Amino acid sequence: MVIKNPEVKYTQLFINNEWVNSVSGKTFETVNPVTGEVITRVQEGDKADIEKAIKAARQAFALNSKWRTIDASERGRLIFKLADLLERDIDYLASLETLDNGKPFKDALWDMNAAIASLRYYAGWADKIHGKVIPADGPFLAFTRSEPIGVCGQIIPWNFPLFMMAWKIGPALTTGNVCIVKPAEQTPLSALYLASLVKEAGFPPGVVNVVPGYGPTAGAALVEHRSVDKVAFTGSTEVGRIIQASAGRSNTKRVTLEMGGKSPLVIFEDADIDAAVLTAHAGVFINQGQCCCASSRIFVHDSIYDKFVQRSVELAKKRVVGDPTDLTTQQGPQVDEEQFNKILALIDTGRKQGANLLTGGQRCGSKGYFIQPTVFSNVTDDMTIATEEIFGPVQSLFKFSTFDEVIERCNNTNYGLAAGCFTRDIDRAIRFAQQVQAGSVWINTFLALGPQTPFGGFKESGFGRENGEDGLHEYLEVK
Ligand code: ADP
Repeated sequence: MVIKNPEVKYTQLFINNEWVNSVSGKTFETVNPVTGEVITRVQEGDKADIEKAIKAARQAFALNSKWRTIDASERGRLIFKLADLLERDIDYLASLETLDNGKPFKDALWDMNAAIASLRYYAGWADKIHGKVIPADGPFLAFTRSEPIGVCGQIIPWNFPLFMMAWKIGPALTTGNVCIVKPAEQTPLSALYLASLVKEAGFPPGVVNVVPGYGPTAGAALVEHRSVDKVAFTGSTEVGRIIQASAGRSNTKRVTLEMGGKSPLVIFEDADIDAAVLTAHAGVFINQGQCCCASSRIFVHDSIYDKFVQRSVELAKKRVVGDPTDLTTQQGPQVDEEQFNKILALIDTGRKQGANLLTGGQRCGSKGYFIQPTVFSNVTDDMTIATEEIFGPVQSLFKFSTFDEVIERCNNTNYGLAAGCFTRDIDRAIRFAQQVQAGSVWINTFLALGPQTPFGGFKESGFGRENGEDGLHEYLEVK
């Protein structure tokens, strides 16, 4: 059940299982996107605080430490306990996420359940990770050990704050690593509360540290540091590039990057139109459009284009925008003023470049960062809204004629996170899945994500995978 105005319990840094102020004494504000008003001030981590967190993490990772010597099954039990505590406090945590991020409470609950599922999935792996005995040539015994990498810096985005934190700490902890989490500056609150549950679950000090702060300061300090062994990042391609370069300049730490997307969803002429219209709508409007794998390019076959456009517009007009604590609300505000302005500017560019604005395009109300669900038809591949990630509630509808043409257009992007198609023809579906360049391909559905299934990008959408068995290997060294 939703808690209106949940009390904020933690605003300090969490280092070595203790709550501490920042070394500089500085704080920063976190804002409620519904009103634009400050919720609270949070201690602002910077280089000196990152140093402290690294020291704590290093100690926790020392060879004889409690964390390095506990049974693997016990590691799994601790992660299960953390998932149970999250479940116990699910209403509070979802309410806190809604307050800080603006997402509808129902969506926040979905995030929390997905975070719990992810933690439980990885908890189960803890005592099932092992090496191989290899029949090497010669009189030798050769075997491999799968060992943790070490201190992992984990940089979290603001669109799914707690869910993305779970995606990162689950595989890191089950494989025996230690973590320093840097939540996004827009949304630090749920990560801090989760830190309190880490302590309550009984993890040894220093195994999970949470240091809120800004990207170019706290985030950069983590990436530049020679005592950090791996960085896992989810965020923009622009920042991902900086992180990869900085990791290379320091100690060539391992890096995994999950960045943006401009994911195509193709509706062939034999599609189940009812299902396709609904899925195309949900695929882009979900989470206020702030989803890296959103279906932000909808290609519709020219024989069904007009019908599809009409039905998409009807659906967008019906979308309920408003107070995210109201259970009937489907769309809350954008996360902050910067995103809000960026989206409105891109909508304007779309209009000026000749796309057909059929509904929306304006802010909603006069307070907070609400934007009307927006639909453009007659979008062409050269327009800015066709190439740049909008990250907002904007649906773009393109027209196509042939399979080969649409595959080429799907792949004509620097991104490669996700793709999908609707068709009843199995041969076509399989051909599509083979030819499209994307880390996830969905047939007759979209955004079917789960903890068991690997997720990550081709091309400039990133590298490395999260979730599934593949996600484990990103946190292991093979010896
Ligand atoms: P967006 O543009 O969607 O806000 P960002 O890529 O800027 O996304 O942010 C994602 C995460 O990366 C946030 O936690 C942010 O603080 C962090 N970040 C931003 N800049 C840097 C940087 N130079 N080094 C490390 N982390 C950064």
